[in-house]
Amino acid sequence: MSLDIQKIRNDFPILSRQVYKKPLIYFDNGATTQKPQVVLDEEIKIYTQENSNIHRGVHYLSEQLTQRYEDARKVVQKFVNAPYDHEVIFTSGTTESINTIAFSYGEKYVNEGDEIIISTLEHHANIVPWQVLCERKKAVLKVIPINESGELILDEYEKMISPKTKMVSVNHVSNALGIVNDVKRIIEIAHQNDVPVLVDGAQSVQHGKVDVQELDCDFFVFSGHKVYGPNGIGVIYGKEKWLNEMPPFMTGGEMIKKVTFEKTTFNELPFKFEAGTPNYVAAIGLATAIDYIQDVGIENIIEYEKELLDYATQKLESIEGLKIVGTAEKKISVISFNLDNIHHYDAGMVIDKMGIAVRTGHHCAEPLMQRFNIEGTIRASFSFYNTKEEIDKLCEAIITVKQMFG
Ligand code: PLP
Repeated sequence: MSLDIQKIRNDFPILSRQVYKKPLIYFDNGATTQKPQVVLDEEIKIYTQENSNIHRGVHYLSEQLTQRYEDARKVVQKFVNAPYDHEVIFTSGTTESINTIAFSYGEKYVNEGDEIIISTLEHHANIVPWQVLCERKKAVLKVIPINESGELILDEYEKMISPKTKMVSVNHVSNALGIVNDVKRIIEIAHQNDVPVLVDGAQSVQHGKVDVQELDCDFFVFSGHKVYGPNGIGVIYGKEKWLNEMPPFMTGGEMIKKVTFEKTTFNELPFKFEAGTPNYVAAIGLATAIDYIQDVGIENIIEYEKELLDYATQKLESIEGLKIVGTAEKKISVISFNLDNIHHYDAGMVIDKMGIAVRTGHHCAEPLMQRFNIEGTIRASFSFYNTKEEIDKLCEAIITVKQMFG
């Protein structure tokens, strides 16, 4: 293993703080990741030295920062291997990205009786925008089922797709269970039927290599704050053939070519989808975060996080009365589990008191919890700054929970 974990940990100031007088153990990386000092420094530098609204002024600061914002777009383009930088649109996060596509694509292409396919594994952010679209257009939402280990049943998906299908929208990695979906196969099947596919990459870009051209997805979305970048920034990658045809989602400044009181014409890509002042500070911060993880090395991250996941799975499985939810073979960095006869909230509260941050509840995936007949789980989600010693501490905390409630 080629990572110096202690050196990496030193890059993240928050990791050296204490919680309840105990060293913080942060296992809630699926919710948001911590930020390295370089990202924080970049944001301070912009506000103290470079701040100015972009795309507007002809003055020095505005021109410089506009260039840096557009350079950030190119960093994201390379990160996901998009063919063109104008196919990268900055949003506030995955949620806004999916809402933008659902509204805008739906406005143009979805009509009464049409069908949209999602999966049982989705986060609410990839359910509700499609549900609302279906209500608005009197379309039908269809859901790919899963088996007991949490894998999508692709035979059922194949049977579901029809000339009425207008979009397939699935996550790359499930936030609640960590299961990696075979999106390449899902896309192939959709494309054989001329149906576009949106891949929700909120839980995949931080754990592995994403190549939108290799996947051949039509849309790919993710959030900056889950990939070691700032809050308030997200991305849509979309094939230009779709984005050019789709109407804008939000309207206002910057997304226009010409405005009169009689008529407005819209700007070109990517600006057509970036109404108003964008979060240029966060966009540049995201580019800094991407540079940072590329320095760490995506291959190193994949290898080390797999080691952590395997170690944690083996240790947790050996605890009597602990049941892992989502036992599919292909998983990334997340373990969801329950303890016999102990409510996940009670367990989470005790674990928290030991300085360990885990997530408890339905993880914004209520239909998935309903599928397993549970209210929620305890979720530990790992990053390359976590260690095996921290996993040992989590196991000790779980034993204490069992002793307290057992
Ligand atoms: N999709 C998935 C798979 C997620 O895990 C999340 C957040 O947890 C989202 C969408 C929503 O992301 P955001 O809250 O950053 O918009």
